[in-house]
Parts: sequence; structure tokens; C-alpha cells
Amino acid sequence: MRKYVIIGAQGSGKGTQSLLLARDLDLVHISVGDVFRWHVQNHTKLGAQVRRAMAAGELVGDDLVEGVVRDRLEQHDWNYGFIIDGFPRSRRQAEFFLESYDIDGVIHLDLPDDEVRRRVLARRLCSECGMDYNLIADRPTQEGRCDVCGGELVAREDDTEEAVTERLRNYREKTAPILELFGRKEYVVTVDARPGIDAVQRTLREKLGLPAPR
Ligand code: AMP
Repeated sequence: MRKYVIIGAQGSGKGTQSLLLARDLDLVHISVGDVFRWHVQNHTKLGAQVRRAMAAGELVGDDLVEGVVRDRLEQHDWNYGFIIDGFPRSRRQAEFFLESYDIDGVIHLDLPDDEVRRRVLARRLCSECGMDYNLIADRPTQEGRCDVCGGELVAREDDTEEAVTERLRNYREKTAPILELFGRKEYVVTVDARPGIDAVQRTLREKLGLPAPR
């Protein structure tokens, strides 16, 4: 059983790298942001509680976040382990997590602020199937349309200049410092997130002592 946490600013490739690792190692990928987006899209009560904070790039309250993480992990569908993405993002969340779970490794994807802005502002999502695109590196064949299902490509509601600035501020002030807390108790590997997707995946596996990607 392997339990990992992945930490990095928005646009550092947390979701992409988590999915690659999860697919190969049969881990469950838990993205708190995805859980919240599902609730917003499906107009649930939780969705109504988090929507405004998310759109502004602010952090959702710790109680709500911890509840979501606890409920998700209590499903115990992670026989081979999990990789949790987007959590913890504050000191309190990190302390809550370390009290309840043993972690095998913390993956820190490191990306400079100017590259974060460049990537996030170029990010697009298919409004139908959720496929990710990037207008810099991963353009769709037909402008504005998904290659897989033909759905319309849209920007995430929180991928605006203002929200990116707020999320970066939160990341530098609240999330990055918790790496030290993990560093004292757990195994943190820092990976340069600037190279391409495959190169980053290879490096993080080497650093975690895992077999190379299949
Ligand atoms: P993400 O997709 O991980 O960038 O998350 C999108 C948004 O969900 C964030 O900007 C926050 O508003 C909220 N969110 C996700 N994870 C957390 C967390 N651990 N703590 C507080 N807010 C969160």
C-alpha cells in the first residue's frame, strides 16, 4: 500500500502527474478541487457553500475541506493506496492529516510564479467531457473544440488574472510553508515541474524509488 501527497502551485501539473502515477500503481486519485467542482456543477448544498470562494481563488474553510477528505478516505476503496492532490493546503489541514494517516512520500512540484501564470491563463477544459487542453503546449486540432467529443472548450472559472494572483498568494503564504512540517516527519521529494510531462514523471519516480513508467 502506497500513500502519497502531491503539492504544487496551480498549473504545476499535480492533476496530470497524479493520474499517471495512479494509473500505473493502481492508486486512487483524490482531488479535493475535483470533488468541489462536481458539487458546484451539480448544484449541491456543498457546491453552494464553496462556489464563491473557489471562483475568487480563495481557500475553502478547513472544516469543509477536512470533512470532504475524511468522507472520501472512509470509503476505503484504496486497496493499493492513494495519491491526494490539492490537500493539505494549510498548516491546520496538514496537522489534521498527519494525525490520521501515515504517508509514504510527499511530491513537491516546483514551478516559478511567471510560469504558473503563463500556464494557468492558457488552460482550457472541455465543457462536455472534462478533457484538459493548453493553448501553449497541447492545442486542440480545431480551435475551441474538444478533439475527443467535439464539446466547447472553456476556461476554468478560477483561471482569471485576479484569481491566479490570489491562489498564488495563498500558495506561497499558506501551502508552501507546510512542506517544512512534512519535511520533518515525512519524505518530501522536490521535482522541477518545468520540463515536459513524461520527463517530470520519470524524475519523480526515480526520486521516490519507484520503477520507471511502463
Ligand atoms: P484545485 O483544483 O486543486 O486548484 O482547487 C480549486 C479550488 O478549490 C481552490 O482554489 C480552492 O478554492 C478549493 N480547494 C481545493 N482544495 C482545497 C483545500 N485543501 N483547502 C482549501 N480550499 C481548497
